[in-house]
Amino acid sequence: MSRSYISPALRQLVRERAAERCEYCRYPQAMALLTFEVEHVVAEKHNGATASDNLALACPYCNRFKGTDLGSLDPETGQLTPFYNPRTQRWADHFRLEGVRISPLTPEGRVTVAIFQMNHEDRIAEREHLVELGLLP
Ligand SMILES: [Zn+2]
Repeated sequence: MSRSYISPALRQLVRERAAERCEYCRYPQAMALLTFEVEHVVAEKHNGATASDNLALACPYCNRFKGTDLGSLDPETGQLTPFYNPRTQRWADHFRLEGVRISPLTPEGRVTVAIFQMNHEDRIAEREHLVELGLLP
């Protein structure tokens, strides 16, 4: 699977629009060791376009766990459910920060938190560090 070229100008637009935060888990690029990735919300494998309305900034955790998936089975209902879409949905409608945990509010939130492993112990530890530094919430 070849990956489309994303121009520097388009990458810059995505980064600035995201305010240099992962658009899924909200982790700040400034506090991360690795450079966040400009990813396709709908993967190219599924004919997602390389255009600003289908690109998002994602931390390496979220990007890796998401892969080319579009969604998963809601752990509560078993229904096939799309992931949260940062281009068409609002974060606060689907997730809530409870201390250092990200709690889902909707089916889309549930599949995203589960598959992206948003509350993995390593990620909780990173958020606890942000709290210590006064950067969270
Ligand atoms: Zn993330």
